[in-house]
Amino acid sequence: MSTTDHTRQPAIRRWALWSAPPAARAFTLTVDLAALVLGGTTVALRTWWPGVALVVPLLVCAAIAIEGARRVERERRLSGSLHKDLQAAWSLCAALILPPGVAVLAVVAMSVYWRLRASRCRPFAWVFSGSMTVLAVLSSGAVFRLTGDALPDRVPHGLAVVVAVLAAALTYEAVDVLLCGILIVLLAPGATRAESFGDRTTVAVDAAALTFGGLVSIVALYEPWAMLLAVPAVVLLQRVLLVDQLTDEARTDAKTGLAVAGWWHQRASAELDRARARHTTFAVLVADLDHFKQINDAYGHLVGDEALRAVATAVASGVRGKDLAGRFGGEEFVLALPDTDADRAAMIADRLRERVAELRVPSRRDLPGAAPVRGLTVSIGVALYPDHADTLDSLLRVADTALYSAKAAGRNRIAVAGSPAAADSEAS
Ligand code: GH3
Ligand code: MG
Ligand code: MG
Repeated sequence: MSTTDHTRQPAIRRWALWSAPPAARAFTLTVDLAALVLGGTTVALRTWWPGVALVVPLLVCAAIAIEGARRVERERRLSGSLHKDLQAAWSLCAALILPPGVAVLAVVAMSVYWRLRASRCRPFAWVFSGSMTVLAVLSSGAVFRLTGDALPDRVPHGLAVVVAVLAAALTYEAVDVLLCGILIVLLAPGATRAESFGDRTTVAVDAAALTFGGLVSIVALYEPWAMLLAVPAVVLLQRVLLVDQLTDEARTDAKTGLAVAGWWHQRASAELDRARARHTTFAVLVADLDHFKQINDAYGHLVGDEALRAVATAVASGVRGKDLAGRFGGEEFVLALPDTDADRAAMIADRLRERVAELRVPSRRDLPGAAPVRGLTVSIGVALYPDHADTLDSLLRVADTALYSAKAAGRNRIAVAGSPAAADSEAS
């Protein structure tokens, strides 16, 4: 189909949703429908007790916070990184201080304002995220009223209010993490648990947003306009998140997701210092793909990049959590392995060599039947602390020399410094 045909399709057809796997599509539509039915029914019931007056200060605060987060959102979009924000603070606030029907309308209004002013996410992602918020708001609001025995005109007091806010915040987080996690699992079955359900940082950001939202709610129940005092803190926190994000990006190689050379060196040096202090062993592996130029020449650079990503995944997933994997340059990778002796380092290097040899990289994503790239091989040099050198730079030099002896011996093999290059398993 030509590009022109594509752009002539109605906008809804261009939503990424339609190209998602059927299970992900069905799940997204079910969540959207559930939010529409439950949210719509709640609004239609019109149980709008006197708390409705709180909606104006809340919307004013949320709007100011969104304006304050616009620059951050723009930077985030430019860097293409994952969405992390503190909007949940205001949504939880809506759930706790507003009657359910008004809370639903308020979070829908916030979400529309966010979309118009700050975000350019895909429409289906925006609708899904809004639906999740509606469901999280309805369930956390219900838990707050049940746990805290709160009534429209009666707020829980003492520790009861803390318990009620915590229970509501946990419910909000559970709904959010679960729905979002299930969608990611359905969209990307290979995603890790941290990628699907959030890593420590994501959970910490959510915890900060939700506990802050809880605090603001308690304040608002006594004086609604006092919520304005919370806005600068939310905007500042949002900027801190950006700094965090930019730091992560500066440390990560965009193509492969591995540590960049400088960051790898910094962390590996710290690990080597630890090994020195504890009198333990430490191994450095330098890996270089064999005849990689030929892969680029035969399939093009984009497929070459796919191959680099596949190798990086093999490198990172084949080692322990405390091992450090990095991309050193073009098609060179490095590994720092704390507490690893010569035999174990050779075993890990050889396992990595075998995994690379087994890789099959799609050569044409648009042609599912096209023959994949196979026959990728790697040569690996290994150096050990304290046997071969005692600084990181000299370990790298020794490992590099070993790597070149592996190349000279015929490639697709590993060489431990000071030993002859081991023959590859196919050749032996
Ligand atoms: P050898 O077995 O001696 O290592 O041969 P080689 O072809 O792998 O080595 P050489 O250093 O001559 O070439 C490395 C190639 O890696 C050259 C370059 O085209 C390719 N390369 C480096 N970085 C990238 C990248 O980011 N993407 C792609 N697709 N190719 C890259
Ligand atoms: Mg090479
Ligand atoms: Mg090279």
